[in-house]
Amino acid sequence: MQGRAGHRGAHAGMGAQDFDEAPFLVIWETTQACDLACKHCRAEAQPDRHPAELSTAEARALLEGVRRFGPIIFVFSGGDCLKRPDIVELAAYGAGLGLRMAATPATTPLATRAKLRELHEAGLKRIAVSLDGSHAGIHDAFRRVDGSFDHGLRILRSAREIGMSTQVNTVVARHNLDDFDDLCRLMETLGIVFWEVFFLVPIGRARPEDVASAEEFEAVFHKLYDLSKTAPFDIKATAAPQYNRVVLQRKLLERRGDGAADVLTDGLEHSLRDGIGRARGVNDGDGFLFVSHTGEIFPSGFLPVAAGNVRGDDIVDVYRNAPLFRRLRDRSLLEGKCRVCEFRPVCGGSRARAYATMGDVHESEPFCAHVPKRWQRLIDGGNVEPVAEYFRARMRRNGIALPVFGAPAVPS
Ligand code: SF4
Repeated sequence: MQGRAGHRGAHAGMGAQDFDEAPFLVIWETTQACDLACKHCRAEAQPDRHPAELSTAEARALLEGVRRFGPIIFVFSGGDCLKRPDIVELAAYGAGLGLRMAATPATTPLATRAKLRELHEAGLKRIAVSLDGSHAGIHDAFRRVDGSFDHGLRILRSAREIGMSTQVNTVVARHNLDDFDDLCRLMETLGIVFWEVFFLVPIGRARPEDVASAEEFEAVFHKLYDLSKTAPFDIKATAAPQYNRVVLQRKLLERRGDGAADVLTDGLEHSLRDGIGRARGVNDGDGFLFVSHTGEIFPSGFLPVAAGNVRGDDIVDVYRNAPLFRRLRDRSLLEGKCRVCEFRPVCGGSRARAYATMGDVHESEPFCAHVPKRWQRLIDGGNVEPVAEYFRARMRRNGIALPVFGAPAVPS
């Protein structure tokens, strides 16, 4: 790729990967249809399938296109992927092409043991379910359907019994911060190989005031790092590359700066057991690509700026060459404190949250509690405004109404 700073990511146990050439994973929003109506639903899911969803033939072509990146991870997301009658056929097709297939069905009665077995036999390696609280009271209120929590536990149990590896996805927001310690304890009992913790991005049904503050995020990062040392599963923070910064800071402290710290945790790479694995340095459009139910190609499911559509564009070409994707992989274009941050190579801030809250994919991540040394020196020298004022000024400049987050969410 000419004319920009390249970026290398890495798979745990699988060597370096050039994210300029191929993403680590592709997520396809198979359908918007879902029987849940979650408060923070990114997809703004509906009960029925959209008439313009990708057809089976188009989905097969999508899988073929993605395979040209290599044998990467392909995830069926939604909505609820089980609302598509062709999902088992597509799982088999993707696995036959050599893609590492996974799915995130909704926690509803549709995810029967028989359906899970069909998917497993078709070649699906891992199933991920959402659990957003340590008990039904918190989870079901969030998902807005009674019984959703129990279905989640049932799906995990059934999948394990038929030999499929399992993952839990959790959205962290204001509503479950007080429950987080109990959630951590629950995770240790579930036999999962991977816990993916999503830090809320205020798009879809999620409102800015639902997002926790930068300081509250920071406290969760430290809890996750502590847990990662002993947990029988790997942990990933999604829409929060700041977690990489916290891991690095903690390891450097613990190792007294021997320079060998890695932003992957010291875990036992539990998530490699099913061949799915994990990667470091993934960010929106940088190691990651999202395809909507109607085929639009996005840098992530939380960054709703399309760079093409699989119905008319070559997905490999869009990922490698579309200006949006290229700019997102060029961290020298970042602004504000992310631009001068010493952790920029391993973090870069959530581009989706910068866009959702600041209106610009290159803006500084407003939900990071870190004040980079160079930024502090600029403040001390009178060359830039303190952090909170910087964000307020940028929001004014971008025409975003104030207050956007409420006081706690803007770092001060
Ligand atoms: S300032 Fe930006 S790059 Fe630095 S740790 Fe925070 S979010 Fe990451």
